Amino acid sequence: MATKAEVLDFIRVYADKMAEHRQELTDFDQAIGDGDHGINMSRGFKAVMEKLPTVYEKNIDDILKTVGMTLVSTVGGASGPLYGTAFMKAGAAVKGKEELSDEDIILALDEAVGGIQFRGKAVEGEKTILDSMIPAINAIKASIADGKTMTEALVAAEAAAWDGVEYTKTIIATKGRASYLGERSIGHQDPGATSMAYAFQAIKEVAEK
Ligand code: ADP
Ligand code: MG
Ligand code: MG
Repeated sequence: MATKAEVLDFIRVYADKMAEHRQELTDFDQAIGDGDHGINMSRGFKAVMEKLPTVYEKNIDDILKTVGMTLVSTVGGASGPLYGTAFMKAGAAVKGKEELSDEDIILALDEAVGGIQFRGKAVEGEKTILDSMIPAINAIKASIADGKTMTEALVAAEAAAWDGVEYTKTIIATKGRASYLGERSIGHQDPGATSMAYAFQAIKEVAEK
């Protein structure tokens, strides 16, 4: 279960993480892209934090949709439309909700990943955001099916997300700018998979409070 206050808290915690890890994410992108992923994410979430007070009184779906629209309109890189679509789709999946059941959370995450795949046409194993996101969602589903609590499931999800980030070091990028490097992208950690792992870290931290 997640309350609206927890959803707002997640957005704040994640925005802080994007500011805190700005240089690290940019360094990863410097190695295999154009060196702006941390700049893009921190700029986008700074804009989100400025916009957030205007939707405090709204439902969770409006809050998530506003986050998504703000990211799309403020981030020029691939990550803006991809993360933006994810938040918009997650919002649309929980229309009218004042709080989210475990099923709602899973549905929102499934819709978010569907939005990223629709927009970016990538599958797992292409060294993208999906390589931490899909294993994390699968870990949540497996944990819940095992009778674990959502907080326990989110601990497993974060671990799976970081395993996914490690896996990106071993594979060739076939989507996005890093794909221009071909085999030379091997050995480098994907910036987008990393920023997504921080999203699951943020969700877990909020759940554990
Ligand atoms: P840009 O590449 O436009 O500079 P960013 O640097 O902000 O944008 O984001 C790069 C990240 O976007 C990559 O590390 C990768 O994880 C992700 N990415 C790129 N293309 C796709 C795609 N088609 N599907 C999913 N994620 C993608
Ligand atoms: Mg970049
Ligand atoms: Mg760029």
